[in-house]
Amino acid sequence: MVSTTQSENLYKEARNYFPGGVNSPVRAFRSVGGTPLFITKGDGAYVWDADGNKYLDFCASWGPLILGHNNALVRETVIETIQNGTSFGAPTIQENELAQLIINNHRFIEKLRFVSSGTEAVMSAIRLARGYTKRDKYIKFEGCYHGHADHLLVKAGSGLVTFGESTSAGVPKSFVDETIVLPLYNEQAVLEAFSMFKDQIAGIIIEPVPANNGLLLQTRKFLKFLRAQCDANGALLIFDEVISGFRVGFEGAAGLYRVKPDILTFGKIIGGGLPVGAYGASATIMSTVSPEGPVYQAGTLSGNPVAMSAGKAQLSQLMAPGFYRNLSKKTAHFVRSLRKHIAMRQYPVRVFQIGSVFWISFSDLEHVRAAAQIDAASMLYFKSFFHHLINNGIYFGPSGYEVGFVSSVHTLEELDFAAGIICDALDVAFHK
Ligand SMILES: *Cc1c(COP(=O)(O)O)cnc(C)c1O
Repeated sequence: MVSTTQSENLYKEARNYFPGGVNSPVRAFRSVGGTPLFITKGDGAYVWDADGNKYLDFCASWGPLILGHNNALVRETVIETIQNGTSFGAPTIQENELAQLIINNHRFIEKLRFVSSGTEAVMSAIRLARGYTKRDKYIKFEGCYHGHADHLLVKAGSGLVTFGESTSAGVPKSFVDETIVLPLYNEQAVLEAFSMFKDQIAGIIIEPVPANNGLLLQTRKFLKFLRAQCDANGALLIFDEVISGFRVGFEGAAGLYRVKPDILTFGKIIGGGLPVGAYGASATIMSTVSPEGPVYQAGTLSGNPVAMSAGKAQLSQLMAPGFYRNLSKKTAHFVRSLRKHIAMRQYPVRVFQIGSVFWISFSDLEHVRAAAQIDAASMLYFKSFFHHLINNGIYFGPSGYEVGFVSSVHTLEELDFAAGIICDALDVAFHK
Protein backbone atom coordinates (compact mmCIF):
# COMPACT_ATOMS: atom_id res chain seq x y z
CA MET A 1 0.00 0.00 0.00
CA VAL A 2 1.38 3.41 -0.92
CA SER A 3 1.27 6.07 1.76
CA THR A 4 -1.25 8.84 1.10
CA THR A 5 -1.06 10.70 4.43
CA GLN A 6 -0.63 14.12 2.83
CA SER A 7 -3.59 13.62 0.51
CA GLU A 8 -5.66 12.46 3.48
CA ASN A 9 -4.76 15.60 5.44
CA LEU A 10 -5.41 17.89 2.50
CA TYR A 11 -8.73 16.19 1.82
CA LYS A 12 -9.74 16.60 5.46
CA GLU A 13 -9.00 20.32 5.16
CA ALA A 14 -10.79 20.58 1.80
CA ARG A 15 -13.95 19.19 3.37
CA ASN A 16 -14.13 22.39 5.43
CA TYR A 17 -14.15 24.45 2.28
CA PHE A 18 -16.07 22.53 -0.38
CA PRO A 19 -19.12 20.26 -0.43
CA GLY A 20 -17.68 16.76 -0.35
CA GLY A 21 -14.22 18.36 -0.29
CA VAL A 22 -14.14 18.84 -4.07
CA ASN A 23 -15.05 21.22 -6.87
CA SER A 24 -16.43 18.52 -9.17
CA PRO A 25 -18.20 15.46 -7.71
CA VAL A 26 -16.39 12.49 -9.33
CA ARG A 27 -13.10 13.66 -7.81
CA ALA A 28 -14.35 12.69 -4.34
CA PHE A 29 -13.75 8.94 -5.01
CA ARG A 30 -17.29 8.19 -3.80
CA SER A 31 -17.77 5.20 -6.08
CA VAL A 32 -14.41 3.57 -5.30
CA GLY A 33 -13.95 4.60 -1.66
CA GLY A 34 -10.74 5.87 -0.10
CA THR A 35 -9.15 9.30 -0.22
CA PRO A 36 -8.91 11.36 -3.39
CA LEU A 37 -5.30 11.96 -4.37
CA PHE A 38 -4.17 15.57 -4.36
CA ILE A 39 -2.05 16.01 -7.47
CA THR A 40 0.90 18.35 -7.22
CA LYS A 41 2.58 17.88 -10.56
CA GLY A 42 2.18 16.36 -14.00
CA ASP A 43 4.88 15.76 -16.57
CA GLY A 44 4.63 13.71 -19.74
CA ALA A 45 2.63 10.55 -19.07
CA TYR A 46 2.93 10.86 -15.26
CA VAL A 47 1.34 12.66 -12.33
CA TRP A 48 2.65 12.96 -8.77
CA ASP A 49 0.53 13.21 -5.63
CA ALA A 50 1.14 15.25 -2.49
CA ASP A 51 2.96 12.29 -0.88
CA GLY A 52 5.39 12.12 -3.79
CA ASN A 53 3.90 8.96 -5.31
CA LYS A 54 4.23 8.76 -9.07
CA TYR A 55 1.46 7.41 -11.34
CA LEU A 56 1.25 6.58 -15.02
CA ASP A 57 -1.82 8.61 -15.92
CA PHE A 58 -4.76 7.43 -18.06
CA CYS A 59 -7.20 10.12 -16.90
CA ALA A 60 -5.49 13.01 -18.73
CA SER A 61 -7.51 15.58 -16.79
CA TRP A 62 -10.61 13.74 -18.17
CA GLY A 63 -9.43 14.02 -21.76
CA PRO A 64 -7.90 17.42 -22.50
CA LEU A 65 -4.25 16.37 -22.27
CA ILE A 66 -3.82 14.42 -25.51
CA LEU A 67 -0.14 15.43 -25.56
CA GLY A 68 0.39 14.47 -21.93
CA HIS A 69 1.20 16.79 -19.04
CA ASN A 70 3.32 19.90 -19.23
CA ASN A 71 3.77 19.84 -23.00
CA ALA A 72 6.74 22.09 -23.79
CA LEU A 73 5.15 24.12 -26.59
CA VAL A 74 1.90 24.66 -24.67
CA ARG A 75 3.84 25.74 -21.57
CA GLU A 76 6.17 28.11 -23.45
CA THR A 77 3.32 29.65 -25.44
CA VAL A 78 1.26 30.28 -22.30
CA ILE A 79 4.26 31.90 -20.59
CA GLU A 80 4.90 34.10 -23.60
CA THR A 81 1.26 35.19 -23.92
CA ILE A 82 0.85 35.90 -20.22
CA GLN A 83 3.75 38.42 -20.30
CA ASN A 84 1.30 40.81 -21.94
CA GLY A 85 -1.51 40.40 -19.43
CA THR A 86 -4.21 37.82 -18.95
CA SER A 87 -7.54 39.27 -20.09
CA PHE A 88 -8.88 42.37 -21.80
CA GLY A 89 -12.54 41.77 -22.58
CA ALA A 90 -11.76 42.94 -26.11
CA PRO A 91 -10.92 41.02 -29.29
CA THR A 92 -7.39 39.57 -29.46
CA ILE A 93 -5.17 38.08 -32.17
CA GLN A 94 -5.09 34.75 -30.33
CA GLU A 95 -8.81 34.21 -30.96
CA ASN A 96 -8.32 34.68 -34.72
CA GLU A 97 -5.37 32.31 -34.74
CA LEU A 98 -7.11 29.45 -32.97
CA ALA A 99 -10.29 29.92 -35.02
CA GLN A 100 -8.32 29.95 -38.26
CA LEU A 101 -6.50 26.74 -37.36
CA ILE A 102 -9.79 24.98 -36.63
CA ILE A 103 -11.90 26.34 -39.47
CA ASN A 104 -9.20 25.68 -42.10
CA ASN A 105 -8.89 22.07 -41.01
CA HIS A 106 -12.47 21.07 -40.20
CA ARG A 107 -14.78 20.53 -43.14
CA PHE A 108 -17.99 21.04 -41.15
CA ILE A 109 -17.25 24.37 -39.46
CA GLU A 110 -17.48 27.77 -41.12
CA LYS A 111 -17.85 29.93 -38.01
CA LEU A 112 -17.19 29.47 -34.31
CA ARG A 113 -17.93 31.04 -30.97
CA PHE A 114 -15.54 30.48 -28.06
CA VAL A 115 -16.83 30.00 -24.52
CA SER A 116 -15.16 28.80 -21.32
CA SER A 117 -16.43 25.24 -20.76
CA GLY A 118 -18.09 22.31 -22.46
CA THR A 119 -21.27 22.93 -20.50
CA GLU A 120 -21.48 26.46 -21.84
CA ALA A 121 -20.83 25.27 -25.39
CA VAL A 122 -23.68 22.74 -25.25
CA MET A 123 -26.08 25.13 -23.51
CA SER A 124 -25.44 27.68 -26.23
CA ALA A 125 -25.67 25.14 -29.06
CA ILE A 126 -29.13 24.06 -27.91
CA ARG A 127 -30.27 27.67 -27.59
CA LEU A 128 -28.95 28.22 -31.12
CA ALA A 129 -30.82 25.18 -32.49
CA ARG A 130 -34.01 26.38 -30.82
CA GLY A 131 -33.54 29.95 -32.02
CA TYR A 132 -32.71 28.87 -35.56
CA THR A 133 -35.63 26.44 -35.95
CA LYS A 134 -38.05 28.42 -33.74
CA ARG A 135 -38.96 25.16 -32.00
CA ASP A 136 -38.58 24.26 -28.31
CA LYS A 137 -38.26 20.50 -27.92
CA TYR A 138 -35.13 18.53 -28.53
CA ILE A 139 -34.01 14.92 -28.30
CA LYS A 140 -31.17 13.68 -26.13
CA PHE A 141 -30.07 10.12 -25.44
CA GLU A 142 -29.89 8.22 -22.18
CA GLY A 143 -26.21 7.63 -21.37
CA CYS A 144 -24.91 10.77 -23.09
CA TYR A 145 -23.55 13.52 -20.84
CA HIS A 146 -23.69 17.06 -22.09
CA GLY A 147 -22.63 19.11 -19.08
CA HIS A 148 -24.72 20.40 -16.19
CA ALA A 149 -27.19 22.85 -17.74
CA ASP A 150 -30.64 22.49 -16.11
CA HIS A 151 -32.56 21.00 -19.02
CA LEU A 152 -29.77 18.49 -19.75
CA LEU A 153 -29.72 16.93 -16.28
CA VAL A 154 -32.33 14.39 -17.24
CA LYS A 155 -32.82 10.68 -17.44
CA ALA A 156 -35.43 8.69 -19.27
CA GLY A 157 -38.70 7.84 -17.59
CA SER A 158 -40.35 4.51 -18.31
CA GLY A 159 -41.35 3.98 -21.93
CA LEU A 160 -39.55 4.27 -25.23
CA VAL A 161 -40.17 7.97 -25.82
CA THR A 162 -40.30 10.00 -22.62
CA PHE A 163 -39.79 13.49 -21.34
CA GLY A 164 -36.82 13.86 -19.10
CA GLU A 165 -36.99 13.26 -15.40
CA SER A 166 -34.60 15.60 -13.68
CA THR A 167 -31.54 13.91 -12.18
CA SER A 168 -30.69 16.85 -9.94
CA ALA A 169 -32.53 18.67 -7.21
CA GLY A 170 -33.04 22.31 -8.08
CA VAL A 171 -34.16 21.70 -11.64
CA PRO A 172 -37.79 22.75 -12.12
CA LYS A 173 -39.93 20.19 -13.89
CA SER A 174 -40.90 22.78 -16.48
CA PHE A 175 -37.22 23.11 -17.49
CA VAL A 176 -36.96 19.47 -18.52
CA ASP A 177 -40.42 19.25 -20.06
CA GLU A 178 -39.07 20.07 -23.49
CA THR A 179 -36.28 17.48 -23.34
CA ILE A 180 -37.20 14.16 -24.95
CA VAL A 181 -34.98 11.33 -23.72
CA LEU A 182 -34.47 8.25 -25.91
CA PRO A 183 -32.34 5.11 -25.66
CA LEU A 184 -29.17 5.15 -27.77
CA TYR A 185 -28.91 3.01 -30.89
CA ASN A 186 -32.67 2.67 -31.28
CA GLU A 187 -34.06 3.87 -34.61
CA GLN A 188 -37.64 3.06 -33.65
CA ALA A 189 -37.53 5.45 -30.70
CA VAL A 190 -36.33 8.29 -32.92
CA LEU A 191 -39.07 7.61 -35.49
CA GLU A 192 -41.70 7.58 -32.76
CA ALA A 193 -40.46 10.83 -31.23
CA PHE A 194 -40.59 12.64 -34.56
CA SER A 195 -44.08 11.35 -35.26
CA MET A 196 -45.38 12.16 -31.77
CA PHE A 197 -43.96 15.68 -31.87
CA LYS A 198 -44.23 16.55 -35.53
CA ASP A 199 -42.74 19.97 -36.35
CA GLN A 200 -41.92 20.62 -32.69
CA ILE A 201 -38.40 19.21 -32.44
CA ALA A 202 -35.55 21.70 -32.83
CA GLY A 203 -32.84 19.08 -32.97
CA ILE A 204 -31.11 15.96 -31.78
CA ILE A 205 -28.05 16.17 -29.57
CA ILE A 206 -25.75 13.17 -29.28
CA GLU A 207 -22.22 12.37 -28.26
CA PRO A 208 -21.29 10.67 -31.55
CA VAL A 209 -18.78 8.71 -29.46
CA PRO A 210 -20.65 8.40 -26.15
CA ALA A 211 -17.81 8.30 -23.61
CA ASN A 212 -19.23 9.56 -20.33
CA ASN A 213 -21.15 6.46 -19.27
CA GLY A 214 -18.83 3.74 -20.38
CA LEU A 215 -17.93 3.81 -24.06
CA LEU A 216 -21.22 3.19 -25.86
CA LEU A 217 -19.96 2.95 -29.41
CA GLN A 218 -22.64 3.73 -32.00
CA THR A 219 -22.36 2.91 -35.69
CA ARG A 220 -21.98 5.08 -38.77
CA LYS A 221 -25.33 3.70 -39.90
CA PHE A 222 -27.10 4.97 -36.76
CA LEU A 223 -25.50 8.41 -37.02
CA LYS A 224 -26.47 8.60 -40.71
CA PHE A 225 -29.99 7.61 -39.72
CA LEU A 226 -30.09 10.55 -37.28
CA ARG A 227 -28.83 12.83 -40.05
CA ALA A 228 -31.59 11.65 -42.37
CA GLN A 229 -34.30 12.00 -39.71
CA CYS A 230 -33.20 15.54 -38.90
CA ASP A 231 -33.29 16.42 -42.61
CA ALA A 232 -36.71 14.88 -43.07
CA ASN A 233 -38.12 16.78 -40.10
CA GLY A 234 -36.47 20.18 -40.39
CA ALA A 235 -34.47 19.57 -37.19
CA LEU A 236 -30.77 20.21 -36.56
CA LEU A 237 -28.25 17.52 -35.70
CA ILE A 238 -25.88 18.54 -32.88
CA PHE A 239 -22.74 16.50 -32.29
CA ASP A 240 -21.42 17.09 -28.79
CA GLU A 241 -17.74 16.51 -29.48
CA VAL A 242 -16.46 17.84 -26.16
CA ILE A 243 -14.59 14.52 -25.69
CA SER A 244 -14.36 13.17 -29.23
CA GLY A 245 -13.40 16.46 -30.88
CA PHE A 246 -9.67 16.50 -31.77
CA ARG A 247 -9.47 13.12 -29.96
CA VAL A 248 -10.57 10.53 -32.52
CA GLY A 249 -9.13 12.68 -35.32
CA PHE A 250 -8.68 16.40 -35.90
CA GLU A 251 -12.23 16.47 -37.27
CA GLY A 252 -13.47 14.36 -34.39
CA ALA A 253 -16.25 11.84 -34.80
CA ALA A 254 -17.92 13.85 -37.58
CA GLY A 255 -14.80 13.40 -39.70
CA LEU A 256 -14.22 9.81 -38.61
CA TYR A 257 -17.76 8.66 -39.43
CA ARG A 258 -18.14 11.12 -42.32
CA VAL A 259 -21.48 12.34 -41.03
CA LYS A 260 -22.17 16.07 -41.18
CA PRO A 261 -23.73 17.58 -38.08
CA ASP A 262 -25.36 21.02 -38.22
CA ILE A 263 -23.79 22.24 -34.97
CA LEU A 264 -20.70 20.94 -33.16
CA THR A 265 -19.62 21.57 -29.59
CA PHE A 266 -16.10 21.37 -28.22
CA GLY A 267 -14.26 21.55 -24.90
CA LYS A 268 -11.49 19.56 -23.23
CA ILE A 269 -8.71 19.18 -25.88
CA ILE A 270 -9.53 22.50 -27.56
CA GLY A 271 -8.10 24.47 -24.62
CA GLY A 272 -4.78 22.65 -24.22
CA GLY A 273 -5.56 22.15 -20.52
CA LEU A 274 -7.04 25.61 -19.95
CA PRO A 275 -10.80 26.30 -19.67
CA VAL A 276 -12.09 26.64 -23.23
CA GLY A 277 -15.24 25.50 -24.99
CA ALA A 278 -16.59 26.34 -28.43
CA TYR A 279 -19.52 25.76 -30.71
CA GLY A 280 -19.44 25.96 -34.46
CA ALA A 281 -21.64 25.52 -37.51
CA SER A 282 -22.21 26.86 -41.02
CA ALA A 283 -22.00 30.62 -41.47
CA THR A 284 -25.78 30.68 -42.01
CA ILE A 285 -26.62 28.95 -38.75
CA MET A 286 -24.00 30.94 -36.79
CA SER A 287 -25.46 34.21 -38.12
CA THR A 288 -28.36 33.55 -35.73
CA VAL A 289 -26.00 34.25 -32.80
CA SER A 290 -25.75 37.77 -31.35
CA PRO A 291 -24.66 40.39 -32.30
CA GLU A 292 -25.53 39.22 -35.85
CA GLY A 293 -28.73 37.47 -34.87
CA PRO A 294 -31.34 37.17 -32.14
CA VAL A 295 -29.82 34.29 -30.08
CA TYR A 296 -28.05 35.92 -27.14
CA GLN A 297 -24.82 34.48 -25.76
CA ALA A 298 -21.84 36.19 -24.12
CA GLY A 299 -18.89 35.69 -21.78
CA THR A 300 -16.56 37.97 -19.78
CA LEU A 301 -13.59 35.64 -20.24
CA SER A 302 -14.67 34.12 -23.59
CA GLY A 303 -11.78 33.87 -26.04
CA ASN A 304 -9.32 34.54 -23.24
CA PRO A 305 -5.92 35.10 -24.91
CA VAL A 306 -3.95 32.84 -22.57
CA ALA A 307 -6.40 29.96 -23.02
CA MET A 308 -6.59 30.58 -26.79
CA SER A 309 -2.82 30.43 -27.14
CA ALA A 310 -2.71 27.17 -25.16
CA GLY A 311 -5.36 25.74 -27.47
CA LYS A 312 -3.48 26.78 -30.57
CA ALA A 313 -0.19 25.40 -29.25
CA GLN A 314 -1.86 22.05 -28.58
CA LEU A 315 -3.98 21.77 -31.74
CA SER A 316 -1.09 22.76 -34.00
CA GLN A 317 0.81 19.68 -32.78
CA LEU A 318 -2.13 17.41 -33.59
CA MET A 319 -1.78 18.38 -37.25
CA ALA A 320 1.53 16.49 -37.53
CA PRO A 321 1.30 13.78 -40.23
CA GLY A 322 0.39 10.40 -38.75
CA PHE A 323 -0.38 11.82 -35.30
CA TYR A 324 -3.75 10.12 -34.91
CA ARG A 325 -2.71 6.95 -36.74
CA ASN A 326 0.21 6.45 -34.34
CA LEU A 327 -1.90 7.15 -31.30
CA SER A 328 -4.57 4.66 -32.40
CA LYS A 329 -2.01 1.99 -33.24
CA LYS A 330 -0.36 2.35 -29.85
CA THR A 331 -3.72 2.15 -28.09
CA ALA A 332 -4.73 -0.91 -30.13
CA HIS A 333 -1.49 -2.66 -29.10
CA PHE A 334 -2.24 -1.90 -25.45
CA VAL A 335 -5.86 -3.05 -25.72
CA ARG A 336 -4.77 -6.27 -27.48
CA SER A 337 -2.62 -7.28 -24.50
CA LEU A 338 -5.55 -6.74 -22.16
CA ARG A 339 -7.92 -8.73 -24.38
CA LYS A 340 -5.44 -11.59 -24.60
CA HIS A 341 -5.27 -11.93 -20.82
CA ILE A 342 -9.06 -11.63 -20.49
CA ALA A 343 -9.61 -14.34 -23.11
CA MET A 344 -7.04 -16.64 -21.51
CA ARG A 345 -8.67 -16.34 -18.07
CA GLN A 346 -12.17 -16.26 -19.54
CA TYR A 347 -13.19 -13.23 -17.52
CA PRO A 348 -16.61 -11.70 -18.24
CA VAL A 349 -14.89 -8.52 -19.36
CA ARG A 350 -14.59 -6.66 -22.66
CA VAL A 351 -12.31 -3.82 -23.64
CA PHE A 352 -13.78 -1.32 -26.08
CA GLN A 353 -11.59 1.10 -28.00
CA ILE A 354 -11.88 3.91 -30.50
CA GLY A 355 -8.74 5.82 -31.39
CA SER A 356 -6.98 6.61 -28.11
CA VAL A 357 -10.09 6.12 -25.95
CA PHE A 358 -10.68 2.81 -24.18
CA TRP A 359 -13.12 1.38 -21.66
CA ILE A 360 -13.00 -1.81 -19.64
CA SER A 361 -16.53 -3.20 -19.43
CA PHE A 362 -17.18 -5.68 -16.63
CA SER A 363 -19.62 -7.72 -18.68
CA ASP A 364 -19.11 -10.16 -21.54
CA LEU A 365 -21.61 -8.47 -23.86
CA GLU A 366 -19.88 -8.18 -27.21
CA HIS A 367 -21.44 -4.77 -27.91
CA VAL A 368 -22.60 -2.26 -25.32
CA ARG A 369 -24.36 0.47 -27.26
CA ALA A 370 -27.05 1.69 -24.85
CA ALA A 371 -26.89 2.78 -21.22
CA ALA A 372 -29.42 0.15 -20.12
CA GLN A 373 -27.00 -2.59 -21.20
CA ILE A 374 -24.61 -1.68 -18.38
CA ASP A 375 -25.32 -3.68 -15.25
CA ALA A 376 -24.69 -1.41 -12.24
CA ALA A 377 -23.79 -4.47 -10.13
CA SER A 378 -20.82 -5.16 -12.44
CA MET A 379 -19.23 -1.94 -11.18
CA LEU A 380 -18.44 -3.73 -7.91
CA TYR A 381 -15.49 -5.32 -9.70
CA PHE A 382 -14.13 -1.91 -10.53
CA LYS A 383 -13.51 -0.97 -6.89
CA SER A 384 -10.81 -3.51 -6.06
CA PHE A 385 -9.52 -3.24 -9.62
CA PHE A 386 -9.05 0.52 -9.19
CA HIS A 387 -7.29 0.29 -5.84
CA HIS A 388 -4.89 -2.31 -7.17
CA LEU A 389 -3.99 0.11 -9.97
CA ILE A 390 -3.46 3.04 -7.60
CA ASN A 391 -1.31 0.93 -5.31
CA ASN A 392 0.85 -0.02 -8.27
CA GLY A 393 1.34 3.37 -9.85
CA ILE A 394 -1.46 3.50 -12.44
CA TYR A 395 -3.96 6.36 -12.31
CA PHE A 396 -7.45 5.85 -13.79
CA GLY A 397 -10.51 8.04 -13.36
CA PRO A 398 -12.12 6.87 -10.08
CA SER A 399 -15.28 5.34 -11.56
CA GLY A 400 -16.01 2.28 -13.67
CA TYR A 401 -18.19 4.42 -15.93
CA GLU A 402 -15.24 6.55 -17.00
CA VAL A 403 -13.15 5.86 -20.06
CA GLY A 404 -9.34 5.92 -20.18
CA PHE A 405 -7.20 8.02 -22.50
CA VAL A 406 -3.85 7.18 -24.07
CA SER A 407 -1.78 10.25 -24.88
CA SER A 408 0.96 10.80 -27.45
CA VAL A 409 3.63 10.65 -24.73
CA HIS A 410 2.75 7.15 -23.51
CA THR A 411 5.53 4.90 -24.84
CA LEU A 412 4.99 1.27 -25.85
CA GLU A 413 7.13 0.27 -22.86
CA GLU A 414 4.93 2.27 -20.51
CA LEU A 415 1.80 0.81 -22.07
CA ASP A 416 3.17 -2.74 -21.71
CA PHE A 417 4.00 -2.01 -18.08
CA ALA A 418 0.48 -0.65 -17.50
CA ALA A 419 -1.11 -3.63 -19.28
CA GLY A 420 0.74 -5.98 -16.93
CA ILE A 421 -0.59 -4.18 -13.84
CA ILE A 422 -4.10 -3.94 -15.29
CA CYS A 423 -4.11 -7.72 -15.93
CA ASP A 424 -3.00 -8.27 -12.31
CA ALA A 425 -5.77 -5.92 -11.18
CA LEU A 426 -8.30 -8.03 -13.10
CA ASP A 427 -6.94 -11.13 -11.38
CA VAL A 428 -7.43 -9.38 -8.04
CA ALA A 429 -10.96 -8.25 -8.96
CA PHE A 430 -11.88 -11.82 -9.92
CA HIS A 431 -9.95 -13.39 -7.01
CA LYS A 432 -7.72 -15.51 -9.22
C1 LIG B 1 -16.98 17.02 -20.36
C2 LIG B 1 -18.18 17.09 -21.25
C3 LIG B 1 -19.10 18.14 -21.20
C4 LIG B 1 -19.02 19.24 -20.17
O1 LIG B 1 -17.85 19.98 -20.30
P1 LIG B 1 -17.34 20.83 -19.03
O2 LIG B 1 -16.13 21.54 -19.55
O3 LIG B 1 -17.06 19.85 -17.95
O4 LIG B 1 -18.44 21.77 -18.68
C5 LIG B 1 -20.11 18.16 -22.13
N1 LIG B 1 -20.24 17.20 -23.05
C6 LIG B 1 -19.39 16.17 -23.12
C7 LIG B 1 -19.56 15.15 -24.21
C8 LIG B 1 -18.34 16.06 -22.22
O5 LIG B 1 -17.52 15.02 -22.28
